[in-house]
Amino acid sequence: MKPEHRPYRTVDGNVRIGSVIYGIGAEIADPDGWIWALTEAMDGTRTVAQIAAEVTGRHPVVEPGTVRSAIGELRAAGFVEDAAAPLPPGLGDRDPVRHARGVALLRWMDLSPRASPWQAQLRLRRARVVVLGVGGTGGAAAQLLVASGVGRLHVVDPDVVELSNLNRQMLYRETDIGSLKAEAAVAALRSLNSDVTVTGEPREIRGPADLARLLGYGEGVPYDLLVLGADRPPEIRRWANRVCLDLKLPWVEGGYRGPLITAGVHVPGDGPCWECLRAGEAERRDLRLAPGQDEEAASPRMPWNPASAVTAALSGTLVAHAALALLSGVPPMEPGFRYGINLMALGDPVLQRHPRRPACPACGPNRNRTRDLN
Ligand SMILES: [Zn+2]
Repeated sequence: MKPEHRPYRTVDGNVRIGSVIYGIGAEIADPDGWIWALTEAMDGTRTVAQIAAEVTGRHPVVEPGTVRSAIGELRAAGFVEDAAAPLPPGLGDRDPVRHARGVALLRWMDLSPRASPWQAQLRLRRARVVVLGVGGTGGAAAQLLVASGVGRLHVVDPDVVELSNLNRQMLYRETDIGSLKAEAAVAALRSLNSDVTVTGEPREIRGPADLARLLGYGEGVPYDLLVLGADRPPEIRRWANRVCLDLKLPWVEGGYRGPLITAGVHVPGDGPCWECLRAGEAERRDLRLAPGQDEEAASPRMPWNPASAVTAALSGTLVAHAALALLSGVPPMEPGFRYGINLMALGDPVLQRHPRRPACPACGPNRNRTRDLN
């Protein structure tokens, strides 16, 4: 049994597995007590045959084949790992030490049977991510991805570090003021984890064509995921949606509107796109806009974007969690949604899911392709 899923026996004799966490835990009726004997025997010190012998020795009415099929069911449910599985090739020498705690969390959340608990970490190690905008959201997300062992990270930002950034952009130090963010971010991220290949460039995205070029349009996309941390120009999410749909590149974006902090998780071809979600959410919120009026009218837009270290770190964390889930498969995440937190209503978690819209101008049959946007 995975140590994080260690079972216990309830007062009425049932076996509870997987920690009492919604989404993971399960309860098994065990009137004869042999399931409990089975889970006790599965402590990583015995072979399957030895486990079957142990259980049938204590409960002679149980057949060895029944024990084997119960082990198979526990394994299929994600509660079991092979304690003798070797470290898969492809990980670095320092990874077993550096990522011991992270892999323990991954196997806790992973309910798919795996040959090794290190498989999800190996997927992160092989992942290539581009982070566009390393300010509050993107900078925090980049730190989390590098600490988590993503293999390659490319950061893009045209700005220089200013004193006014330092209330929330914790990737930077006072000594970075006046430096290009792309350069300061690369240095900070490399010093955090030198096993990650970190690169950067001070590049400005002025339109969808710029973005398409950055993402390798026409040349083969060298990334597995785009993390969009930039919120300027205001159209950048729309551009990212169109370009990523065309390139079939998964992407995650995040940000804040005051105390409302959200991240959107988008995989082209899997669920609604960013524009579908946005239109669905505008309907749900019943903004009562006049015909032709953009939903931005309902939200104050100012030259500055009010933010604190807390809102920026939360935003970056939501983005990084989604990115890591898409890249590693743990925990499973069905894309095409926004999730988040409203600091003014902590009891009301944000979860926006809307169906794909057949007439969507971005992902519908009449959509504009990237080449038309150039
Ligand atoms: Zn759409």
